[in-house]
Amino acid sequence: MRMRPRSIRARDTLIAAVIAALVLGVAAIGVDFAVRTAVKADLLQGTQVEARRVSGGVRDGSLEGQISDETRGRILIQVVEPGGRVTNATPAATDRAPVSRVWPSSNLRVRDYTECRGTWPDRECFVVEAIRVTTAPDSVVVYASEELPSYLVNGLLEAALAMVVLFFAGLVAWITWRIVGRTLGPVEAIRTQLAEISATDLSRRVPEPSGQDEIAELARTANATLDRLERAVGRQRQFASDASHELRTPITALRANLEDASMHPDDNDLRAVVESALRDTDRLESIVTDLLLLARIGTGGPTAQEPIDLAELADAELRRRAFDLKITTVLAGRVTVRGVRVQLVRLLGNLLDNAERYAESSITIEVIRADGQALLTVTDDGVGIATADRERVFQRFTRLDTARSRDAGGTGLGLAIAREIAQAHGGTLRLEDHPSSGARFALRLPLVTTLRRLPPAPPR
Ligand code: ADP
Repeated sequence: MRMRPRSIRARDTLIAAVIAALVLGVAAIGVDFAVRTAVKADLLQGTQVEARRVSGGVRDGSLEGQISDETRGRILIQVVEPGGRVTNATPAATDRAPVSRVWPSSNLRVRDYTECRGTWPDRECFVVEAIRVTTAPDSVVVYASEELPSYLVNGLLEAALAMVVLFFAGLVAWITWRIVGRTLGPVEAIRTQLAEISATDLSRRVPEPSGQDEIAELARTANATLDRLERAVGRQRQFASDASHELRTPITALRANLEDASMHPDDNDLRAVVESALRDTDRLESIVTDLLLLARIGTGGPTAQEPIDLAELADAELRRRAFDLKITTVLAGRVTVRGVRVQLVRLLGNLLDNAERYAESSITIEVIRADGQALLTVTDDGVGIATADRERVFQRFTRLDTARSRDAGGTGLGLAIAREIAQAHGGTLRLEDHPSSGARFALRLPLVTTLRRLPPAPPR
């Protein structure tokens, strides 16, 4: 069975009430003890004075006649012989059985104690002072006794204290319930609003309470997350629509060619039609491959990564390719990064493809360490990219006019993929200024700090 309440409000209220009851309970036990001790001490003092007065009188023979009573029957005093006969008493205690059966011995002549008789609800208790007048075997005993107030005997004091404890514990519970309710009110409002927000309507925001407290922060964070989510979903939609648009163009061309060929077989060179269809299919294939790659980047997690020497990787890629251009390389040793090799090869490949496509005569590839990072730059001496387009070219399917006039082969996804790879590796890819014309792409990645080996310890 589940004992803990589900709601924070109920749980906090229960905890506060239990703690209050415990603390107040301990305090009540203390009060009970203190009241009992004080009342008994007070009664005992009175009975002691009276018992001493009478026992003194009996000892020196100054007690004459019936014992006087200044307490108007509150304190009962009796002088009792061995054998239990009452020989003298205050008026209220005359004609009564001895108030106590306790008989002090000759070496412990004075005793004080509490004695009870009867059963609840008629139970009564007395504080008794018993003084054996002398050590002689036939000495009489003087008893002075006073009844304890009923609230100490019938549990009234404890009942009253328990009521007080319950009342205050209840008060604490009520206050906690109210305060927690008021505190959690905004949380409930946020929850309700969040529950209503769906992927199709991300424009709604949760109510933000004023102030700087945790709940206000929670609401602000939730809204910031919703902002990002809305932008991401917007980008995804835009991407899907761009992708379908981009795919539709070659499909339409392909279809038109095929339809024309099938309707006018005699007017068409079948071989040319098939070749054109193949080109369109190639283009479709490369777009789809790029789209799949884009969707996959960054999903492998850190386990797919390995330490890679960026200079070695660039060198291997340059050796693999045959250029008609002048290639200049500056490759520093040991520029190690963590990454997914095929992705970094792809990134560099995309930059080199573009450089090769746009360069006039030369390309410079540089791999160095700069500002504690690995820096790879690919610079060409082509038309370059206008400052206004420097961010735009990294967006999916962006192709500048220079590209359209030059080559129809590109998908417009190369730089988007390259930047996505850089970001998935914790780095950046940007276009940078440089002294001559042409474009310079700069990739920065976090360096892997390799532990330097310590020299062997000198022989002792
Ligand atoms: P693609 O090359 O397939 O068109 P990219 O994403 O690789 O797509 O490049 C986007 C656009 O950026 C290109 O179409 C071209 O207009 C421009 N661009 C890329 N690299 C260069 C470069 N080195 N010099 C001039 N323009 C470039």
